[in-house]
Formats: sequence, C-alpha cells, structure tokens
Amino acid sequence: MLDSVAEKIKQIWNETLADIKREISAGDYEAWFSKLHLIEIKDDIAKISAPSKHVKDNVTWRYADVIAKALNACGCQINCVNIDVYDSNNPETVAKSEEGKNNKTVAETTVLDKKFTFKNFIVGKPNEFAYAAAMRVAESDTPVFNPLFLYGGVGLGKTHLMHAIAWHIKESHPQKRFIYLSAEKFMYLFIKSLRYKDAMSFKEMFRNVDVLMIDDVQFIGGKDTTQEEFFHTFNELVDNNRQIILSADKSPADLDGMEERLKSRLGWGLVADIHPTNYELRLGILQSKARKHKIKIPNEVLEFLSMKITSNIRELEGALNRVVAHATLVGSSITIDMASDVLRDLLRSNEKYITMDLIQRKVCEFYNIKLTDLTSTKRHKAIATARHVAMYLAKQLTAKSLPDIGRSFGGKDHSTVIHAVKKVKENIAMDREFATNLEILTKSIEN
Ligand code: ADP
Ligand code: MG
Repeated sequence: MLDSVAEKIKQIWNETLADIKREISAGDYEAWFSKLHLIEIKDDIAKISAPSKHVKDNVTWRYADVIAKALNACGCQINCVNIDVYDSNNPETVAKSEEGKNNKTVAETTVLDKKFTFKNFIVGKPNEFAYAAAMRVAESDTPVFNPLFLYGGVGLGKTHLMHAIAWHIKESHPQKRFIYLSAEKFMYLFIKSLRYKDAMSFKEMFRNVDVLMIDDVQFIGGKDTTQEEFFHTFNELVDNNRQIILSADKSPADLDGMEERLKSRLGWGLVADIHPTNYELRLGILQSKARKHKIKIPNEVLEFLSMKITSNIRELEGALNRVVAHATLVGSSITIDMASDVLRDLLRSNEKYITMDLIQRKVCEFYNIKLTDLTSTKRHKAIATARHVAMYLAKQLTAKSLPDIGRSFGGKDHSTVIHAVKKVKENIAMDREFATNLEILTKSIEN
C-alpha cells in the first residue's frame, strides 16, 4: 500500500519534471531541479525537498508557480508548494534540523483561481471601466498604461480582474513571465531576504518578470524599508518597459502611510476604480452563478437577493451558496421565504445601512419636498408620487413588513403600501425617465 503511494508520487514527479524541462532552459533545469524530490502531496499542498537553502530559496521564488502548474497539469490540485531543505543522508525526507525552522522559512505561492477569468466576470456600469482597462492591458504586447492601478471596496472584483489578466497572459503569451502576489507576500519575501542577507535573489526574482502584479498594496503603507524597496523595484521595471498592475482599496492619492513620491508615481499610469455594485450587476452575477448550480433557483429569489444584499459580491455569492446548500441538504425547493429564513442574519446586517429614515430623507431631497408632507395625507401629485416611491423603496430595500412601512408614513394602512408599490412598478414600465430617476435615487440610498 505504502509502496504504491510512493510509486504514484514518483510517477507524478517524473511527469512534472518532464513538463518543467520543456518550459525552462537546460542550464536552469540542471541547476535547480536535478536534486529536488517530491515528498508528499497532502490536500492541496505539495511538499518538496531541496539540497540546500540556496536551491530552496531560488526555486521557491522563481519556480514555485511553475511547479504548481506542472503538478496540476499532471492531475493534481495544488494550491501551495512548500520547499524545504532535506537531510543529506536521506534526500526524501526533510532534514530534522530544518524542520523546526519550517514555520519561518516555508514559502508558498498562490496558484491562480480557476474561476477568476474574464469569461466569468460579469460587466456592468460599476465595473465596466476597470474591466476594459484590465482587458486592454492583458491583450497588449507592450505596456499601455503603467502602472494599471485598480481600486475599489472589498469584495468588488479586484483580485478577480488581476487573476483574469494573468490567465489571459498565460494563454496568449505563454513565454511571458509574470508574478502575481499579495502586498503582504511581497513584504514577507522582502523581510525574509533581509534576514537571510539574500537581497540579491529577491531583486533577481522581480528583475526577470514581464508583468508584475501586486494585490492590496494598501498594506505596504507605513513600512518604510518595504516601501523603499517597492519603489526601486517599481521604477526599475517601468524603466525596462515591464507592465505593472496594482490593486488597492483606495486611490493612490488616498493611500495612508504611503510616501508622497510613491503615491504620485502610482498614479502615473491609469487609475481605474470599481464602484459599488448596482442592482442590475448583482442580478446579472447571481443569474450567471445560478446557472452553474444543479438545483433550480427561481429568478424571483435571485431578484430578492440582489435587492437585499447590497454590501459586496463576495457576500452575495456566499448568500446564494448558503441557500443552495440548505436546499440541497434539506431537500426543499428554493423560495423567497426559505431564503429569507436561511439568511436572516445576513439580511439584517445588510439592512442596517438602509433605514426608513434614510429612505425618506433621500426621497424628500430628491423630490424637493418636506418630510412632513411625505408622511401627511396630502394628495398633491408631486407629493403623492414621492410618497409612493418612498414606500416602494422601503419595501425593496428594507426587510420591513407592509404594516410597518405604512406606520412609518403617518399611520397608513398596509393596503396603501401595496397600492404604492403597484403604482411605482407601473410607472417604471411606462416611463423611462421615471425609471432612470428611480435608479439614481436607489443608488444614492445604497451608497
Ligand atoms: P476584491 O479583491 O475586490 O476584494 P474579489 O476579486 O475577491 O474582490 O471578488 C470577490 C468575489 O466576487 C469573487 O468570488 C469574485 O469571483 C466575485 N466577483 C467580483 N466581481 C465579479 C463580477 N463582475 N462577476 C462575477 N463575479 C465577480
Ligand atoms: Mg482581493
């Protein structure tokens, strides 16, 4: 049994090495790969032994992604490659003396997420500019905007777009070397290189790339030496006409703890922001994700989720997955009632941001009427329209019941709310300008 596992590992490793041999020069192969051993594959981690720290570091920095890719091409599902120094008497085990240091020295690489492709990226108004910019950079042979700086709130698709660029480059320009890493990883490698007085291989690793992508650069702020190194690496690559792609949660000018010269340098290329989602985009994304599930998900449930979960796309996806998982486990069908039950906590936290008071205030501002008019019984057309809209938005954007909504409008009946919602729906269908205004108003409430 054990033998057969060992055999299997050996076979995978031989195939992997054969793959790598085709990808890199004979000299490099001999220098870095001839003495490596695959020790084990556990979950999505491949453990590899190297003959020396020098080989280990170089292979980790330069080839961890190549190894992961080759292993995956041989049928493995590796997300992480751990390389350690081995025991010279027994090359197939990691040296005992090194094991204790593993926590400090094990480096891993992130393999690109298979789902994060351009094909799987749904484009809508809030992200169309960032999408177009990313596409342009991915398709062009030489840097068009340098750097491309993508920014936006959490869970809105920055990492997805960066991986999509990487996938595209892998397919259309396989000879190009690219590195994708988080800013945290960048700092980790840098600090590690200082600790081991090995700054050369750190520099070397970046010097050879055609495309450098660093995700979440806001984390570099405040760390002076890392900033300095980042700045040099950055300048050197730009001077050599290499493409740099960065992401952050804020625009370059707003990055905290970042040196002025670095901020200004980061803004030299193209700065593309991803706006908070709107209803159409959320629905589009959910419809696309829903098609990938085996279970039937009624469109009205997708509409319900898109209406209620406005925070970000990650949370929206999570909500859909929870509903699907619940339905599959319990064997029930998916309905709005079931979804609101399963997602009670999530709906409440999303609702927190949109209160009745906020809706009423925004509607009054928009239609230029007084709050007391909104909750009055006046039937003046402008006031009645604003009241209908406010009730409609309360129904769509909060989890309040119809009687509750009625009460917030000066003690009106729930049937008044039903009538208002119906009226607004009719107007949306008939009057384009009304529909557009409503969209603008919704956006201003959601953001
Ligand atoms: P960020 O890096 O901005 O925090 P991510 O790129 O990790 O966000 O996106 C969060 C999740 O939402 C991911 O699962 C991603 O695939 C998904 N997502 C984001 N934007 C889109 C989009 N436009 N179309 C489809 N999925 C998206
Ligand atoms: Mg991200």
